[in-house]
Amino acid sequence: MIRNIHNPALRDARFPLHPRPLEDELLSTWLIRIAYKHKTDPVSFANLYLPDWKFILWSRDFDTTADRKLLEALSYKSRQSVEALFSLTLRSYEGFLAEELTDKTRNLLVQPLVNYSHTKVGYGLRYCPLCLREDEIPYFRRKWRLSFSTACVKHSCFLLDRCTACSTPLTLSKLHDDRPVFHCYRCGHEYAKSEAEAVDVGSYGLKAIGKLHRVLDDGVFRAGDVWTYSFAFFSVLKQLVKVAYWWGKTEGFLDHEVMTGKIAYLSGRPRLNLIENIPLKEQYLLFSGLMRLFEDFPSRLILFCETNKVRKTDLTKDMHSVPFWYSRVAERFNGEYCAISPEEVSSVITYLKDRRIPISAAKVSRLVGRGIDFRKREDLRVLFSNGQC
Ligand SMILES: [Zn+2]
Ligand SMILES: [Zn+2]
Repeated sequence: MIRNIHNPALRDARFPLHPRPLEDELLSTWLIRIAYKHKTDPVSFANLYLPDWKFILWSRDFDTTADRKLLEALSYKSRQSVEALFSLTLRSYEGFLAEELTDKTRNLLVQPLVNYSHTKVGYGLRYCPLCLREDEIPYFRRKWRLSFSTACVKHSCFLLDRCTACSTPLTLSKLHDDRPVFHCYRCGHEYAKSEAEAVDVGSYGLKAIGKLHRVLDDGVFRAGDVWTYSFAFFSVLKQLVKVAYWWGKTEGFLDHEVMTGKIAYLSGRPRLNLIENIPLKEQYLLFSGLMRLFEDFPSRLILFCETNKVRKTDLTKDMHSVPFWYSRVAERFNGEYCAISPEEVSSVITYLKDRRIPISAAKVSRLVGRGIDFRKREDLRVLFSNGQC
């Protein structure tokens, strides 16, 4: 690899070789592939062709921060359109994953790289070793940066977020030696040679990841009979992470998931309550559980809330705005709403009586549509004994 060269003439030059980005490729790793093609180490390559970003390009996460100026420079040099290059960034998820994405906010369902000078110390870049092995031209996918991308749906295996030989997080711009393949800068291990850890093909978590990717790609989500924007859905999803993980409301949450028991869950809560700090395999179970709640919407979500005694405040606390399809569920767990009136119960009893259906507390509860604790409601209990039935 060529290193530490100086040639001011290249400031305005195009890249002599400019391979096209591949399907869902990440901008930064596409640039690394280009540097490899020029047999130049990625840092020297960027310093040569992009001197305005000398020594700063790789010390940032430019997949999330790339501005117009950088994209225009890359566009000129690679003969790709600015729009095509923008689509390789995580910024292009703005309006889909969240209303707004900035590198200054966290908890956005994007795994942070955590830059320490030119080295990444966060486990934010993930990969499937089998995809890298199978690719004609190995490359890193943009979706692998997302918190819910914890497994490869194609290969039914967990994604990896570190070097399997020495556990170092990935810093692809740094090289261990001159091999033009993605490898660990610390020990030289090739990521494509990492051993994959299988996920049971019957695991619901794999389906959940596929569904989440589809919602993101389509930009819409169907909540029962209502279509909603994907960013509204993801804001609800993030709220439910708090309920099901940080507040530990897990009764019945993972009963459907065959990987439960094989993976630790809620093993040791990270210090900061951020989705990205949850270990990868726990994220796998978490999103499996969450996506299951949206099946047969809203029945499963309602059952989950009832079982776990989730309140309206749990469901909506701190939310910037609450989509109406979700607030309809949340309202059911409003204390006031649950104060069922004697008239309501009375009319149900009359309904059952008219049809000669045997009356029981369970039946009344079911018809009212909510659980009623008759032990605490003397005013309702008397309706059973005062000749109403
Ligand atoms: Zn794969
Ligand atoms: Zn290593």
